[in-house]
Amino acid sequence: MMDSCSLLASAKINLYLEIIGDRPDGYHELVMVMQSIALADLVELKAIGMDAFRVRCSHPLVPTDSSNLAYRAAQLMADEFPEAFSRWGGAEITIDKRIPVAAGLAGGSTNAAAVLVGLDLMWNLGLTLPQLQELGAKLGSDVPFCIGGGTALATGRGEKISPLSNLDRSYLVLGKFRSLQVSTPWAYKTFRQEFGHQYVSDAAGLEERRQRVHSGPMVSAILHHDDRQIGQRLYNDLERVVLPAYPQVAQLREVFRSAGGLGGMMSGSGPSVFALAESELEATKIRDAARSAIPDPDLDLWITQFTTTGIQVVSNK
Ligand code: ATP
Repeated sequence: MMDSCSLLASAKINLYLEIIGDRPDGYHELVMVMQSIALADLVELKAIGMDAFRVRCSHPLVPTDSSNLAYRAAQLMADEFPEAFSRWGGAEITIDKRIPVAAGLAGGSTNAAAVLVGLDLMWNLGLTLPQLQELGAKLGSDVPFCIGGGTALATGRGEKISPLSNLDRSYLVLGKFRSLQVSTPWAYKTFRQEFGHQYVSDAAGLEERRQRVHSGPMVSAILHHDDRQIGQRLYNDLERVVLPAYPQVAQLREVFRSAGGLGGMMSGSGPSVFALAESELEATKIRDAARSAIPDPDLDLWITQFTTTGIQVVSNK
């Protein structure tokens, strides 16, 4: 039997995020383009020979109790596969947190995705990607994407995934003010208050809006691997509520956009902002320009790349 498993769990950015309507379950109908990035957490699972799960993470903002999404993923696996759970037992889950927390980068979701993939291996279940995605959807809208990663169109509340052509390892600069957090529920609720009157409510109308994105310029730019067009077609509806409420985010976005590069935008509900670059050198220039325009030590900046993998198993013994 396998005693341990280490996995790299990639963060994501949104290249496109459009809110098209309300859902009876309280979520929104979305059309998004998701992109995995190389910035990743390291998630280690170790068999502990008892019927329980334990989460360890040294990041002060990450809970280690049953509210941790990685813990909830483990509990879900135990509930769904009680025989495997009683045969192989629980695990200690150690999260080496490198993805900024509450940043719009799906940090919690990708940890949950890693636990699903890791326990599938350790318990020898042989689940398929669609089966893992179905389990993931029970934990959160971003979890199904995080499992397979790469470049994909996400619809529904974000849990319905259609892979798009994988993009090359394009460079990007990522920025986030360390002490700034934006609540995802707040961003969606505020959007509904301000723009809810424009929502589409009939099934045919929603499908028409999905199709419009599917055959639209962003997806076409991705299929053609046209980085310049991708940079010009970045779109995120949530900027309309987050940027006015968080002037620092708006400023960082502006600095990124005027520093050259292919385009810049907020990811998800923020507050992280990214700038696409043509090369590693250009990414370095954008990062340095942002650093001198905003000398605030609270601003963290990273240079990273697109990646084609969601959850990657690095070792299992
Ligand atoms: P999304 O883009 O999916 O909305 P996010 O990147 O904005 O996610 P997370 O980093 O997932 O946000 O964290 C949101 C909140 O979830 C945190 O404030 C934290 O308390 C809680 N949380 C629970 N489990 C985790 C986890 N494994 N990693 C990070 N945060 C977690």
